[in-house]
Amino acid sequence: MPPPIVVQVVVDKPLTQGFDYLWDKEMLGSRPEVGSIVEVPFGRSHLIGIVIKVSTHSEYEIEKLKGVTRVAPLPSLDPAALRLMNFASHYYVHALGETIIPTIPQMWKKPEDWEKIPKKLAADKEKKKKKSDPEFTEELIDESHLNQGQKIALEKLRTFSSDEFRAILLQGQTGSGKTAVFLNWLRGILEDTSAQVLLLVPEINLTPQLERRVRAYFPDKSMVVLHSGVSEKVRGIAWYEAMTGKAQIILGTRLAALTPMPNLRAVVVDEEHDPSYKQQDGIRYSARDLAVWRAHDLKIPILLASATPSLETWMAARAGRYEYIRLDQRAQGASLPKVHLVNTRDPQTQFSPGDLEKPKVKSLITKTLANAVSKNLEGKQQSLILINRRGYAPVLSCGACSWLSKCDQCSSYMVLHKAGALGRKSVLSCHHCGLVKIIPNHCPDCGNADLKTLGQGTQKIEDFIEEMWPSARVLRVDTDSSRKSKGAEELFQEIHGGNVDIVVGTQMIAKGHDYQNIGLVAVLDADSRLFSQDFRAAERLFAQLVQVAGRAGRSSKDGEVSGAIYIETQFPEAAVFQFLLRHDVDGFLSFTANERKEAGLPPFAYQALIHAEAKSLDKAIQFLSSLKSHLRAQGLISNGLKVYDPVPKAVMRVAGSERAQLLVESDNRKNLQETLEAIDSYLRSHSQGRISKEGRIRWLIERDPISI
Ligand SMILES: [Zn+2]
Ligand SMILES: [Zn+2]
Repeated sequence: MPPPIVVQVVVDKPLTQGFDYLWDKEMLGSRPEVGSIVEVPFGRSHLIGIVIKVSTHSEYEIEKLKGVTRVAPLPSLDPAALRLMNFASHYYVHALGETIIPTIPQMWKKPEDWEKIPKKLAADKEKKKKKSDPEFTEELIDESHLNQGQKIALEKLRTFSSDEFRAILLQGQTGSGKTAVFLNWLRGILEDTSAQVLLLVPEINLTPQLERRVRAYFPDKSMVVLHSGVSEKVRGIAWYEAMTGKAQIILGTRLAALTPMPNLRAVVVDEEHDPSYKQQDGIRYSARDLAVWRAHDLKIPILLASATPSLETWMAARAGRYEYIRLDQRAQGASLPKVHLVNTRDPQTQFSPGDLEKPKVKSLITKTLANAVSKNLEGKQQSLILINRRGYAPVLSCGACSWLSKCDQCSSYMVLHKAGALGRKSVLSCHHCGLVKIIPNHCPDCGNADLKTLGQGTQKIEDFIEEMWPSARVLRVDTDSSRKSKGAEELFQEIHGGNVDIVVGTQMIAKGHDYQNIGLVAVLDADSRLFSQDFRAAERLFAQLVQVAGRAGRSSKDGEVSGAIYIETQFPEAAVFQFLLRHDVDGFLSFTANERKEAGLPPFAYQALIHAEAKSLDKAIQFLSSLKSHLRAQGLISNGLKVYDPVPKAVMRVAGSERAQLLVESDNRKNLQETLEAIDSYLRSHSQGRISKEGRIRWLIERDPISI
């Protein structure tokens, strides 16, 4: 009798070990391979698993092993993809099965459908053939149209060999034409018709525009789009085409970074500084960092593009660890917008009584800004007004007592949304847990009927703008308006079409879109992000402001460019604003690097957070305190390692759970890795999965957190 075939399989559970199963070659119709996707019996049900080892023996009694029940009609995950998953699992201290299985689209996790899938794929292919080519209206960015700066950048990129690891920072102002440079670079790589390239973008909203552009640029290449906004079926097929090497171009958001691509030859991470590359639940990976690791592992080039690089990437480029290409000339003669810091403490910037036609209206913006908007309207240019808070007002309050619209389930306030945004009625909504309530007619505490709003959100500004400029066409763009009737893409089309004079919205309107006729951009709530417990707040604000400023005066038909950005602030002297005034990205980054170095913060140190969630804050804190005591008792708090005291999270209570965190910091990566592994094994030995046996506390380790 031939020896039995034993396979080790990992499943989507927070378990560090794999499980042995028998492989019946006759029944399954194939030989096992490392990377095969299978169905296995697990407890009383069946689960999807990945084969990670094939052998002829087991530590367990062979007779007692259960058998693999089905194999997916797919090639096995390629060895490089498995190396990436193994690295991610190790680095982020997350079980391997929990790392791999969630990256597989739903369509491939239903074994009962596996038999039907080949038919489905064939039908889809037919459909694609029948679909006529869409019309491309995007201007082609052929190499011959590149300006001098772009040509030099492209030449430099082409000097890098395609079978050697290089991380390259392409730093260029918004509007300098980075996209045209990297698309032309990729064209060279894609001349090899088996080569695959991965193009990562931070947000779903940015994909349609780039998708059109890439399709127009590579009409004969097969391309797939992978992000959470596409249907399960489309995603399933796209993933299949990527993992079988059929798709040459893979365009997607962070989840695409973990897709198997057996012939990957180059990676581009656009807007590499964007916090959206960080996954915020499950395995909290950074898609950018994993992409860099993957490029290193595969010995291929990776291009990181940004106008405002992350401090980490910028320092690596400055130190020569990354290649550094600058693109400082704006395309089509567009010049940088003029930055105006409007000091809201200066009475001269404010309206005086009698200035306004309707004296009852209290202006929500400064007189300086209002005058600029009026002038911009006269000049027939569009204005963008940004406030990073959706809804009408962030809190409702009672003037008679001290009642505030606090959420019952969270330690945050419920935001007032006027009718139309989230439904037909005005409501209070919690942006953390989603609780929605009808607005009370009277104060629930004292019965006072005169409830007032505090602060302002996009809706309130929209109302105010409509009142201030009754003949202007106003459009609000935020996740509420884009969820409601029209998708974000349609709202953007309206702006492009020139059907709008003033756009009020959250930062989502500032990201990546090429607007043609924006004369003025205003930022209303910059100060709210100036002071924060998070040491990265200033870096993020600066990047956003540069991006926002880049929307103004991008290009104009007659070459005459007028663009301005107005920032209302009480603190015009703050470093963030002063560097912005001079458009000095490098100055700001170098200033920030010095600050971080002095404070011993990342990238001069490495951090991790241990999150704990319990019924009460006390329990969560106590859980983390005893973890800290354990680390100390075991002598694990060694040189260079700091374990801080547990603290409540910024939003401490969410949906009835109370949350705390413990910060672990080290000046040495290896040291941090070892400590995290020790923490993981200690917590696991006292838990079932990731919930402590005592006290039912849910815990999670997060490496390289982007907000503290
Ligand atoms: Zn009251
Ligand atoms: Zn809530």
